[in-house]
Amino acid sequence: MQNYSAILNNIYTELNASHFRGEVANYIPELSHVDIHNFGIHLNVLNGDQFSVGNTNTPFSIQSISKVLALAKAFSIIGEQLWQRVNVEPSGNPFNHLSLLELENGIPRNPLINSGAIVIADILVSHLKNPKADFLNFVRDLANDPTINFNKNVAASEKATGYKNFAAANLLKSFGNLENDVDEVLDFYFHQCAIEMNCKQLADTFYVFANRGTCSQHKDYLTLSQVKRINAIMLSCGFYDEAGEFAFEVGLPGKSGVGGGIVALLPNTFTITTWSPGLNAKGNSLLGMQALKLFTTETQLSIF
Ligand code: GLU
Repeated sequence: MQNYSAILNNIYTELNASHFRGEVANYIPELSHVDIHNFGIHLNVLNGDQFSVGNTNTPFSIQSISKVLALAKAFSIIGEQLWQRVNVEPSGNPFNHLSLLELENGIPRNPLINSGAIVIADILVSHLKNPKADFLNFVRDLANDPTINFNKNVAASEKATGYKNFAAANLLKSFGNLENDVDEVLDFYFHQCAIEMNCKQLADTFYVFANRGTCSQHKDYLTLSQVKRINAIMLSCGFYDEAGEFAFEVGLPGKSGVGGGIVALLPNTFTITTWSPGLNAKGNSLLGMQALKLFTTETQLSIF
């Protein structure tokens, strides 16, 4: 029997003493105001046990982590046809890279880089009646928490400065891989990225991927095969051009965001989240990566 509470407390105490915490993202101006000293870890074990240490109650911008939730929703709506519009290969490139898109005739490398996530956003805009509200309700249902919301200032801040995302969307449109207006799709995309959650809410939301497609409220959202595929994409593509490093050091499917959040999971066992807004050079939370590496090393729990 693991002493999760002691393990998490030790990891937190060791890492919270770090003077070097990376850099807070500032290319979305609104994110640059976040205090770099925030740090929290939350573990949600599938048997119902929950363990929290540090700042796990303050909401942060989930940013790219939302791409997994959008993928899950789109996959559950259109099924296998989704793979005609987006590939499933790791990119080995930063999240906002455009060259692969050109080389591959407008089919993004995977659904977790920006161009792929913009295609997924397009699918949701085509299929949801009230795209932003319906998607938010889907996320609230997964988390069983109606208080989760968009931060409209973050969405507006990204809209005002998201030149590369406008470029990616226009490129996709030129290749015929965007059905809706660029502005409408990006408005949806900027809002999905601007959803805020704290560590506990994020761990609850991702319970569905650890629990074979069934959320904590026993509602089925995804088939076993869909969960297998989404978890495989998280493992191979969830950490920008550091996905190999995360698999190597941590050994779990997961996803990071430039807001400094990371979620990871061990199928049938737990979900775990970390939040520390300082990022490393690849855009992943510096303390978060270290915390998860220590956690899987100490507990000897990983998919490998
Ligand atoms: N909304 C951000 C962007 O598109 C997401 C980046 C991230 O978290 O990786 O640039």
